[in-house]
Amino acid sequence: MTKKVIVITGASSGIGEATAKRLASEGNQLVLGARRAEKLQAIVQDIQAAGGEATYIVTDVAKLADVQALADHAIKTYGRLDVWMNNAGLMPQSQFIQGKIDDWNRMIDVNLRGVLNGIKAALPTMRAQKSGQFINISSVAGHATHSGGGVYSATKAGVLMISEALRAEEAAAESNVRVTVVSPGAIATELTDSITDAATKAGTEKFYNAFAIAPERVADTIAFAVNQAPDTAINEFVIRPSKQVM
Ligand code: NDP
Repeated sequence: MTKKVIVITGASSGIGEATAKRLASEGNQLVLGARRAEKLQAIVQDIQAAGGEATYIVTDVAKLADVQALADHAIKTYGRLDVWMNNAGLMPQSQFIQGKIDDWNRMIDVNLRGVLNGIKAALPTMRAQKSGQFINISSVAGHATHSGGGVYSATKAGVLMISEALRAEEAAAESNVRVTVVSPGAIATELTDSITDAATKAGTEKFYNAFAIAPERVADTIAFAVNQAPDTAINEFVIRPSKQVM
């Protein structure tokens, strides 16, 4: 199998970390972005110790200049961009009456604007190469919502819509740029740490403790999409714990 240059945002924990390690173990070249340098450095060391290739650059996906620097770093280090995984995200859920506008804005900036920044930074290179793949992380919360989940769901539904339009545009352009959107259910990561409302956090953690599955399950799914023949695009996955109802 040919090595791919794979960029992952939000690679310092959870789904991003598990996917980076999985794809590096298959011989790909990984470029990791997130804000916590020490975490990224430790993950790169783990990958290298296991015989893999990886590099990182501190990246805030809400800042286009950072995201462009991440793309530039990948191209400078490894010469091309084969896969761009828009994964960075946070989920500070709460009810609207609480008026947590800072949380709402952070979700829009990271979960939505971060994805657009990734597309802006990576798509021109993929078009020029006439090959590439976006892996955009949505959520089951992008397909349905509930009390307290309005803004998070709006950002994740936005990721679904952005992904579908990007898919259609690239298919029409015959650019060989594939788009895969992944909608996970409850996955055991640091995501619940981002919840600022104490009652919502306690309730969500209780649910996650009972139901959540390992992020490696999502990594397996992503590896399956990445490893398809170039003429085949898997456009969407929904992956939940077997016993998760909603
Ligand atoms: P984690 O909290 O473990 O990981 C989130 C990652 O995003 C971290 O690496 C964090 O790194 C990074 N991140 C947060 N803000 C920024 C930013 N401004 N710039 C760059 N990186 C940032 O949670 P998950 O692994 O669960 O989350 C990954 C994705 O999966 C998210 O989009 C989430 O919404 C989605 N998802 C998760 C589900 C779950 O149940 N866990 C279910 C459905 C979807 P750092 O703090 O170092 O910047």
